[in-house]
Amino acid sequence: MEQIILAAPGKIELRDVPVPEPGEGEVLVRVSSALTCGTDMKAYIRGHSLIPMPGPFGHEYSGVIAKAGKGVGVFKEGDSIMGVHSAPCQTCQYCKKGLENLCEKIMGQKVLGAFAEYILLPAPIVSQNLFHKPQNISFDEAALLEPFSCVIHPYSRLRLNEIDTAVVIGAGPIGLMHLAYMKTKGIKVIVSDYFDDRLAIAEKMGADRTVIPHNIAETIAEETDNTGADLIVECTGQIKAWENSLNFVRRGGTIVFFGGCPAGTLASHDTYRIHYDELTLLGSFHYTPQDVKDAYHILAYKLVDLSLLVTGKFLLKEIEKAFSLLKEGKGIKYALKP
Ligand SMILES: [Zn+2]
Ligand SMILES: [Zn+2]
Repeated sequence: MEQIILAAPGKIELRDVPVPEPGEGEVLVRVSSALTCGTDMKAYIRGHSLIPMPGPFGHEYSGVIAKAGKGVGVFKEGDSIMGVHSAPCQTCQYCKKGLENLCEKIMGQKVLGAFAEYILLPAPIVSQNLFHKPQNISFDEAALLEPFSCVIHPYSRLRLNEIDTAVVIGAGPIGLMHLAYMKTKGIKVIVSDYFDDRLAIAEKMGADRTVIPHNIAETIAEETDNTGADLIVECTGQIKAWENSLNFVRRGGTIVFFGGCPAGTLASHDTYRIHYDELTLLGSFHYTPQDVKDAYHILAYKLVDLSLLVTGKFLLKEIEKAFSLLKEGKGIKYALKP
């Protein structure tokens, strides 16, 4: 079968490898759609601590079960599925506290290699984080389950009844998914980005205001009677945006830091605001099985329309075209097809 290998930053290879055999509890999936993601982009450009190289590449997928191992229960050959690429161990100290997104083994047990004809899903994923794809959603939308599970993760820790106005900084795929989710909660959402075409998509997806970063402070002031937004969701992973976020939030408000910066990055924040204005600074990483279930239901019942996020399709062997477009800031996500 054809499989894409990320050999080193900037170096992608198409290899011919044997089709894997599913063992007990595992399933072999014939990939129908695999999506590019910001994490892939970081790995492609500068390397990534969670993506070993050389190694299989891609982690957002949907497809059809080609072969099911023994004891996989509800899944059988021919079933259309959607899933994520990791599952917690359920035995470590974090899992026992319900913090399964921080599971000590979650990154060791994850599976990469969605940019391939087939992907073998390990037993913990099959038993916890794999679902049947409903017919009413496309394989491309189904492949959004992984990033959308990440996106909804922080909201269970927020008091949504206190949020009237939110600001999303960065209208890439993640920022746009935050927008889509918050619109299902009736929140007024302001979206900021440098790229006009991204802001145009944000408008189509229901943004109440779109704004270039230069004008963000005055737009927020206008929309909130000068008090600041209830919630800021930082989705750029840029240190300036991390620092500026504190200037846009109201007293008692929350900033969700969603865009990860490289390890060792230091940000400086005004301690007066954090203390006397009682700000909540909230990091968000990955998802729990409950988040994946919730994300699945939102997608399956079409409570959000994320179809605009997939801005083009390529064959596996054309993968470098997709990444060069993303590097130029063109498009949101690309679907790769074997
Ligand atoms: Zn992803
Ligand atoms: Zn664990």
